[in-house]
Parts: sequence; structure tokens; C-alpha cells
Amino acid sequence: MTVVEDLLSPAQYEAWRACRAPGEMPVRMFARETERSEGTVGNHLRRAEDKLAEAADDFAAIAEPVDFLEERDARSTSWERAAPMAPDTEIRKLNRHAWLLQLPDGSPHVAALLRRQGAYQGWCDCNGWEYGDASSPCAHLCTLRQGAFAHVETAEGERLQVADASAARESVTDGGKIVAPPARGDGWTLSGAWQRAQRADAHLGPVDAAHFDVLLSRESGDWGSRHRVLFAIQNGALRAECDCKSFTHRDWCAHVAVLWWRWVREQLGVRDLDADDTHLSPPWWLAVHDQETS
Ligand SMILES: [Zn+2]
Ligand SMILES: [Zn+2]
Repeated sequence: MTVVEDLLSPAQYEAWRACRAPGEMPVRMFARETERSEGTVGNHLRRAEDKLAEAADDFAAIAEPVDFLEERDARSTSWERAAPMAPDTEIRKLNRHAWLLQLPDGSPHVAALLRRQGAYQGWCDCNGWEYGDASSPCAHLCTLRQGAFAHVETAEGERLQVADASAARESVTDGGKIVAPPARGDGWTLSGAWQRAQRADAHLGPVDAAHFDVLLSRESGDWGSRHRVLFAIQNGALRAECDCKSFTHRDWCAHVAVLWWRWVREQLGVRDLDADDTHLSPPWWLAVHDQETS
């Protein structure tokens, strides 16, 4: 038995599959075919949706380790069949860890993908997952992995993201301000903070996936105080925050500037907290994001 059937009553499951699969059957049509009232079908459907929306932990609990690298390197059938960008592929988010997805010429399946301690774990209700080799992801899981990497959007218009199963994600992020990448000719690139970042000696130490400790030399030659700086990508944007006075007042400071300076010179790795990637220089889509939002 799969987790979806476990979570839902048979009537809820039937209504949910019929009315919420990609290319969904309208409630009215399903009610007519099953000789039930629209109200009854609608109630089953709504309660099923609510249960699935709250069931992220249930999906996380049954997820097992998956190895995408091996799949990619072997150019396996699943990896090649994955089609996150195909116009006929439908990806609908059920909750933080699970999606309903349909590949071109395939049936709709429920698949869950998440990260736990830096490694991927997944689950799918398709036969490819149930009968495949252990740790070998099916085409649906490969679609989610590739889709998250390529920043595809779900049917709801949100960016497809693979979330961490642990609570660490919340504590690390949701802080900081979105910092736009500096464009050539921007006034602030000539600011005092920027100049100091270029001239000063710096000690940089990574603290965790999202934070660096930054120590900058002063004009006088001695070291300033150490500041802890959030500098990481989340939700497709660079987020930064420093505990110094300058950042508090101006949302910008020499400590953040020095991280930028190193990053554009490929002297710093910056984590994408959603995709679990490290970028050794600013990715092109950061600049695209900036143009779209400004
Ligand atoms: Zn599958
Ligand atoms: Zn600062």
C-alpha cells in the first residue's frame, strides 16, 4: 500500500485521483459517472486535498535515499525519460515534499523528493520506483531533480524547489535582505564600503551553509571586529545580512561587499540553499532575476 491510499479514505482517494490528476475530470462529470452528488464528491475532494497538503511529514517518513549522480552518469532510462521542460509535463505541488506529476504519454503519479543531511531521498507511487533497484530513482524523481535544477515552475506558478526534511532550513534562512548583484556603473560600487572591500585585507571563514565570519583590516592597519554575515542564495535570490551598524542603517556594508568581491572573482563558494548547489561565481539567473524585479 502506498502512502496516498493510507492517508485517504477509499472515497476520498477515488475522488482525488479522478478530479485532481493532471487533465482533471470535473467534479460534476465524476459525480455523474459514479452516481453520487456533486456535493459529496466535492467534500471528499476537499478533505483529500487538505490531508495531502498537511502530509509532508508522512511523505518524508517513507522517502528513501536516491542516487541521481549514478543515474546521470549512466544516462539511465529514467534520467533520459525525465522531462521537466516538456510542454505536456504537468507538475502540481501537493505539499512541501510531494508533487503530482505526469510525463508526456504517462499516467499521473505522486512523487516525493527532499533532502536530508545533504543527501536526496525520494518516493514515488509508480512501478518503476516500487520494482526498480534500490536507490535508483524513477523518471518522476529524475524529473523533479532536473526541474529543480532548471528552475521550472509548478502548475501553481511557483519555482519547483526541493526542501530539506530537517528543521535546519528554517533556522538558517528567512533572514536577511535580498541583495541585487552590482551592475557596472552603479553608483554604490564606488561607495566607501565597496572601496574598503577592495583595499582591505580580509579574513573569511565559513560558519555553516549560509554564514561567513568576516574580518576586515582598517585604514590604520589593525583588524576591525569580526562580523557574522549571512550570504546565500534562497528562492532564486541572493540574501545577505550583517550584524554591523552600516548594514543595519543602509542594507549594505564592507563585509557584504568583500564577499561579493571574492565571489565574482571565483574566490568564494556560495550555497544555493534550495538546490543544494555551491556556486563558485554568481549564476547568470541572478542577474536575470534582478532585471525582472527592478
Ligand atoms: Zn515514479
Ligand atoms: Zn557589515
